[in-house]
Amino acid sequence: MKAWEKNIRKVTPYVPGEQPKNTGIIKLNTNENPYPPAPGVLEALKKTDVDLLRRYPDPTASALTEAIAEFYGVESDQVFVGVGSDDVLAMAFLTCFHSDKPILFPDITYSFYDVWAGLFRIPYEVQPLDEKFCICAEDYQKECGGIVFPNPNAPTGILKSLDEVEEIICLHPDVIVIVDEAYIDFGGASALPLLKKYDHLLIAQTFSKSRSMAGMRIGFLLGNQELIRYINDCKYSFNSYTMNQTVITLGVEAIRDRAYFEQCRRTIIETREWAKGEFHGLGFEFADSAANFVFVTHPDYPAKEMFEALKEAGIYVRHFSGPKRISNYLRITIGTREEMEALFAFLKQYMSKDWSM
Ligand SMILES: *Cc1c(COP(=O)(O)O)cnc(C)c1O
Repeated sequence: MKAWEKNIRKVTPYVPGEQPKNTGIIKLNTNENPYPPAPGVLEALKKTDVDLLRRYPDPTASALTEAIAEFYGVESDQVFVGVGSDDVLAMAFLTCFHSDKPILFPDITYSFYDVWAGLFRIPYEVQPLDEKFCICAEDYQKECGGIVFPNPNAPTGILKSLDEVEEIICLHPDVIVIVDEAYIDFGGASALPLLKKYDHLLIAQTFSKSRSMAGMRIGFLLGNQELIRYINDCKYSFNSYTMNQTVITLGVEAIRDRAYFEQCRRTIIETREWAKGEFHGLGFEFADSAANFVFVTHPDYPAKEMFEALKEAGIYVRHFSGPKRISNYLRITIGTREEMEALFAFLKQYMSKDWSM
């Protein structure tokens, strides 16, 4: 070790899903939306005034926060926007989890939570999911410095009802509870109505999944004005200009088109429900998913081998080799009907071969 290395902040970074360079593959590994962004996004992109790029953007991204506030029926100072929900969640961790007591989150969940906790030196304690992969409210009763969990959870896709979410929120009025709703638009009830009741609640959402804008990087928090102000103070102490001019303009177009959004998510939900039947037919086992992915396992075919065979065939899905409990599972994003048909065609062929030979 070099002398200076002992003064370096050492962290274990998050490992994102693979973004292969080759085209013509079927990409079901990072929960992207298979449909293009709202038509207005392309129109606005064509009209982009390059001269605007010479100037600094609006540091408050007010056009975007106002459009989001309007969509969700909240005040614009209840909205905090950032570079994907990864950015807003990181800022929320930094601002809200400033306690000596450990924050709590599930053992199997979005694998960025422990990374941010590590980066910001936030003590944490993971709470194991039960044998059915469910988050148990009782596990979160203990004293803590905050709570964060996704609803629906990732990578399981399991949704908690609004009552169950509220059960966890009301356990600890003295710390911030973050509900990460990255997948809520695919069939769940958002905790949004609870904001009026609980000022220690923070909701995180993203344009990456239900609004087909993963490449644009837009995420946002909804919370009470005071809490959002604290988060803004931290943001302005770090980087005032997180949202660039183009992102602001295109983000506004994406959120304004409610009809396109509704149609898109309805199609994905329909494809998912049909796909569940196909997976069952092939002998896969999985908990009921309310997200744009399913988390499947098969009693006869090891996940790792299927993952490799699928990849070989140009079909990318996600396999988590880390935690033992989920190493025999695959997380498969819901693509278009055609992409899913290609997936099932491959799986049928794969399973018809005798692999014991
Ligand atoms: C995808 C995802 C995010 C982050 O999405 P961004 O692209 O950064 O907006 C956050 N939480 C969960 C649970 C996710 O799956």
